[in-house]
Amino acid sequence: MNDIILLKLGEIVLKGLNRKTFERKLLSNIAYRLGKIGSFRVSCMQSTVYVEAKDESADMDAAFEACKHIFGIIALTRAAACEKDKDAIAKLAIEYLKDEMLSAKSFKVESRRSDKTFPMTSIELSQYVGGELQEAYPECTVDVHDPELTVCVEVRDIAAYVHGTPVPGAGGMPVGSNGVAVTLLSGGIDSPVSTYMIARRGVRLIPVHFFSFPYTSEQAKEKVIELAQILTEYCGRMTIEIVPFTHIQEEIRDKCPEEYFTLIMRRFMMRIAEKIALYNGARGIVTGENLGQVASQTMEAMAVTQAVTSIPVIQPLVGFDKEEIVRTARKIGTFETSILPYEDCCTVFTPRHPCTKPKLENVEQVESVLDVDSLVEEAIKGTERVTVEL
Ligand code: ATP
Ligand code: MG
Repeated sequence: MNDIILLKLGEIVLKGLNRKTFERKLLSNIAYRLGKIGSFRVSCMQSTVYVEAKDESADMDAAFEACKHIFGIIALTRAAACEKDKDAIAKLAIEYLKDEMLSAKSFKVESRRSDKTFPMTSIELSQYVGGELQEAYPECTVDVHDPELTVCVEVRDIAAYVHGTPVPGAGGMPVGSNGVAVTLLSGGIDSPVSTYMIARRGVRLIPVHFFSFPYTSEQAKEKVIELAQILTEYCGRMTIEIVPFTHIQEEIRDKCPEEYFTLIMRRFMMRIAEKIALYNGARGIVTGENLGQVASQTMEAMAVTQAVTSIPVIQPLVGFDKEEIVRTARKIGTFETSILPYEDCCTVFTPRHPCTKPKLENVEQVESVLDVDSLVEEAIKGTERVTVEL
């Protein structure tokens, strides 16, 4: 049977003149993703993307699963195609939806015709196909108000398609259609989720990780690479910038008052992230910060941290409860890796009594003993790049 996958475009359809650009981005993301699975034909018509196998070896089940993670798609379904003829459509519906019709108690048929030359109206077609299905499966009754199963018939340009209820897609916008940002990726639970959320808004991401060897282990680094690897399912190919952070942390420890350790460290992270962003044409810094979660996440602390950068600091999780973040982490598959017990640089030299209501002048003053520019320069020079892809 001529089995295909139909992908319904999400927010892209609301776009005006630049809609074509968004569609092209989506198609190239789909082609990249499916290229890892096999040989497929991908085309777009009337707000629907069609995915067809080019040869026997192309695995449609794997392709369907992969498409569930591509941003820009609001719903998706497997469908079967036939010629645009009412009897061919009814016959196909009876065969193709056999399992669904046998397990559902009630159904209705919904038809759409984008080919207006088709000789029946949508209502006539639904009634006809509904009647044939009813005869083939007398146990399943017609219920037009609250059916268990909705059988969809679409009469389009080149063929007619029959499918059951679509499943929800990943939503959002195609990665790369909304610019580039760096994302601060620690080994924790939050930052993989913030990365996912901004990728979902169509942003291509460059992960930046601060690494404090030997205070944090090689395994901590491997863990971050593994998290980025999991995220490629949503974000596509990424190059992680791994920044050596040990010297900066030692300098802060040796020269600044303990209560300011974390704040000053975070200001360094922002300066370095901004530089990496600008080298790479990125226009924002994404973090997994969450209001009130720890001492460095009060509004005062965030203001002091962000004062060193002039590009937007995007904090998609700022108003989330931990439980909501954990739920998303589980859904996207990063949770189990995030909870592996390797130390992050934030837990190195943690102050016993961190300052929660810092004043910018005080922080600038205690920081002035450090040679900020050369420390930043040195860290950027030592940065290692690791590319992850599907
Ligand atoms: P996470 O679960 O993401 O580690 P967290 O709740 O532990 O977050 P913090 O440790 O205060 O919070 O870090 C806040 C944010 O700063 C992180 O979400 C991340 O975006 C960034 N960050 C922290 N540590 C690092 C690191 N070692 N490398 C890169 N970014 C980091
Ligand atoms: Mg952390």
